[in-house]
Amino acid sequence: MVGIGFGPSNLSLATALDELGGESGGPAIDAVFLEKQPALGWHRGMLLPGAKMQISFLKDLVTFRNPASPYSFVSYLHAKGRLAAYANRNEFFPSRREFHDYLEWVEARFTKYVTYDSEVVSVQPLRDDRGHVDQLRLHVRETGSADATRVVQARNIVVSTGLVARMPDGIGHGPGVWHSSEYLTRFQTLDAARVRSVAVVGAGQSAAEIARHVYDNLPDADVYAILSPLGYTVADNTPLANQVFDPASVDDFYFSSDRAKDAVWHYHRNTNYSVVDDELIRDLYERQYADELGRSTRLTFLNLSRAQSAETVHGRTRVAVQSLRSGEVDHLDVDLLVCATGYDPMDPAAMLGELAGLCLRDEQGRLRLDRDYRVATSPELRCGVYLQGGSEHTHGLSSSLLSNIAVRSGEIANSLARYCATSAAEADADVAAGRTDLSGVKVV
Ligand SMILES: Cc1cc2nc3c(=O)[nH]c(=O)nc-3n(C[C@H](O)[C@H](O)[C@H](O)COP(=O)(O)OP(=O)(O)OC[C@H]3O[C@@H](n4cnc5c(N)ncnc54)[C@H](O)[C@@H]3O)c2cc1C
Repeated sequence: MVGIGFGPSNLSLATALDELGGESGGPAIDAVFLEKQPALGWHRGMLLPGAKMQISFLKDLVTFRNPASPYSFVSYLHAKGRLAAYANRNEFFPSRREFHDYLEWVEARFTKYVTYDSEVVSVQPLRDDRGHVDQLRLHVRETGSADATRVVQARNIVVSTGLVARMPDGIGHGPGVWHSSEYLTRFQTLDAARVRSVAVVGAGQSAAEIARHVYDNLPDADVYAILSPLGYTVADNTPLANQVFDPASVDDFYFSSDRAKDAVWHYHRNTNYSVVDDELIRDLYERQYADELGRSTRLTFLNLSRAQSAETVHGRTRVAVQSLRSGEVDHLDVDLLVCATGYDPMDPAAMLGELAGLCLRDEQGRLRLDRDYRVATSPELRCGVYLQGGSEHTHGLSSSLLSNIAVRSGEIANSLARYCATSAAEADADVAAGRTDLSGVKVV
């Protein structure tokens, strides 16, 4: 099995495969992971000081699947000597920085299974003389060295390449125009003394966090928050609504009608999409209020507004901002424009290349997925193609989130083991009947 991408989802899969265990004490399935970054990095551009996780520490890589796992957040705290100190905080939500440290702690146990600086650019099905595909050839670009490529063969792949950063229509990247996903990385190299004004586009959690970070860290800069609604919408974190992320909700969603699926999306998208934590909204409002009191407006909310386009004028960025009230367009000159305009769901089609042609789609053109996250494929394809992410249409709201990765990766590991056992038995039968030799059955 080759895992494509090594973020939390496939890191969780590594722990699940480890739990399955092989005869020799190692993993039951030969597995490697390919990751395009030079090291594990979980949304490094948004590891803002003080930013908190939006899920409980109990929703770590393993606990919902196996509370006794040695890779839990609690085990991490214990290993680091911080268990009592953490418990004293009465806090379910770790900081994003601590969660990243936890991920690195787990990763350290699996480093030998990961090859970094390796971006999978396409996947080619290898046909035998009967037209069957029992092997996939992955073309890998070595991101650390210019133009270097290599190939890796696999029987199964698990694609977990994450969300895709989305810029607003009409606005492209530039030296003074960033997407939120790269914010902190670029902020660290910013000549802060030269920045007098910053605009942040968006109405979600990242937009609000960045507006606050700019306000607090560039004390001489004016901050413009450009958002379409009147105010940020509060994230629904109440217990009944939170059930939408329970493992059992995946079954409910998967086996329900299209109408019911649409209703769940409609009612509960405010648990995650374009919403902001209550505490952060109040925090920003207090800053604006304190400004007014001191008669020095530094934070301005351009609400019911839309950033239409951006161009460079005399070394600054001129943003065209359309009022949704009047339709009128005003121009705002800033030193930095940050677009916290979200992400598109993972769509592996481009990366899968030729293999995508063997993957079946529904009437709306979306990939068809079995309950075990295995893509439905043409019969000649005897390899497994699994998705972690990109399954919002079949498995529901938790697909791109952390909430369910412990259980999901366990389900994928079990499915892989089941299919491996079946194909090994088929291969034995073929050999016994003199129909094939075994070369090509062993993976990786
Ligand atoms: C700022 C931010 C905060 C978030 N906070 C939360 C939260 O608190 N709770 C929550 O539930 N969700 C949160 N999310 C949602 C987020 O999707 C998940 O936290 C998590 O990242 C999903 O893990 P993943 O492994 O599926 O994807 P990712 O973490 O995106 O990992 C995908 C990996 O694949 C690699 N990759 C991509 N393409 C290739 C390729 N072709 N070849 C090789 N490698 C490739 C990438 O470099 C990356 O390392 C947050 C998202 C953001 C942006």
